[in-house]
Amino acid sequence: MKYNVDEKGFYGEFGGAFIPEAMYPNIEELQNNYLKILTSSSFQTEYAKLLKNYVGRPSPLYYAGRLSEHYKTKIYLKREDLNHTGSHKINNTIGQILIARKLGKTRIIAETGAGQHGVATATVCALMGIRCVVYMGALDVSRQAPNVLRMKMLGAEVIPVESGNKTLKDATNGALRDWINNPWDTHYIIGSVVGPHPYPDLVARLQSVISEEIRWQLAEQEGRELPDFIIACIGGGSNASGAFYHYLDNENVKLIATEAAGLGIDTKETAATLATGSPGVLHSCKTMLMQNDDGQITEPYSISAGLDYPGIGPMHSFLHKIQRVEYLSITDKEALDAAFFLTQSEGIIPALESAHALAVLNKKKFGPDDVVVINLSGRGDKDMDAYIRMMQKK
Ligand SMILES: *Cc1c(COP(=O)(O)O)cnc(C)c1O
Repeated sequence: MKYNVDEKGFYGEFGGAFIPEAMYPNIEELQNNYLKILTSSSFQTEYAKLLKNYVGRPSPLYYAGRLSEHYKTKIYLKREDLNHTGSHKINNTIGQILIARKLGKTRIIAETGAGQHGVATATVCALMGIRCVVYMGALDVSRQAPNVLRMKMLGAEVIPVESGNKTLKDATNGALRDWINNPWDTHYIIGSVVGPHPYPDLVARLQSVISEEIRWQLAEQEGRELPDFIIACIGGGSNASGAFYHYLDNENVKLIATEAAGLGIDTKETAATLATGSPGVLHSCKTMLMQNDDGQITEPYSISAGLDYPGIGPMHSFLHKIQRVEYLSITDKEALDAAFFLTQSEGIIPALESAHALAVLNKKKFGPDDVVVINLSGRGDKDMDAYIRMMQKK
């Protein structure tokens, strides 16, 4: 595949593994083994079985009739919101816990921002009976109480990180530091297509089940595997990488990804990395970053906690540079409006992250025969506070 990672872990100039020496044992072990494990029949059998019977896959590809009528085009929703734990994140954590077990690891660490990846990780650790430690910025611990309680109920230990801005970036630093100090028994389950090689490629492959299913589901319903457009939102970029993966080489399929603009890309309150950032190294990987002139990472903002990461997966920096994927910025307001419109036209309350993808329907014109697939990355239960505030304003 022309868009795949190269042997050193680069997508063009982006990616790589800029790691301290103390991380070599862990990263090299993973680099040397991940493809062997992923392609082994024992992994594939077990992964497929858990995706089917535990996660609830395949997730439906739903033809959204009323939405299609309104926008005068054919709109399908890929229902990742119906997965166990409410989003696509479990596709990755199920796969990585199986890899950890194959490598003989007995302890799992993870980072989390809003808590969604922490919950998905604590869930698979409970499933496998493996010890779980989740690093979470202290500010996020206080903002996301329900998810902290879920992780604890699942048996995980949640460690608040007091450094920096006490959010996702600092939680990731905490997890990386833990990994350096535990080079033998611990596997780090990273939550998106970010971090040192092989994580971006590993997570993209695990999420690629999304586009694998879209291909046959679309063939079943439309008589063709290729849609005209696929749209997904981007935090680190994992649900988008999965929705695009098996279509990257089909140049006729137009791919659109949305970053969170927050209050707007011309304000400081934004998380639109590609629109406002520049190249640099964050979390052991070269990619586009939001940073000031001195190379200090700036704090991202979005109404959606799952999208406010100051970097982006290296594959997206690359796909943006070579223009294979079109990247748009969606404001808080545009996402909120799209969430309400979907809810009232289809009876589906989306995650705020996913609403950033839905908002493209108001930004771009699609033809009456176009088939447009939107990846509905998660459900909106966790975002009811934001939705209630919106209703109180009206
Ligand atoms: C975490 C999350 C995202 C953003 O993460 P990606 O790695 O960019 O997919 C998007 N949607 C939902 C529902 C999430 O929980």
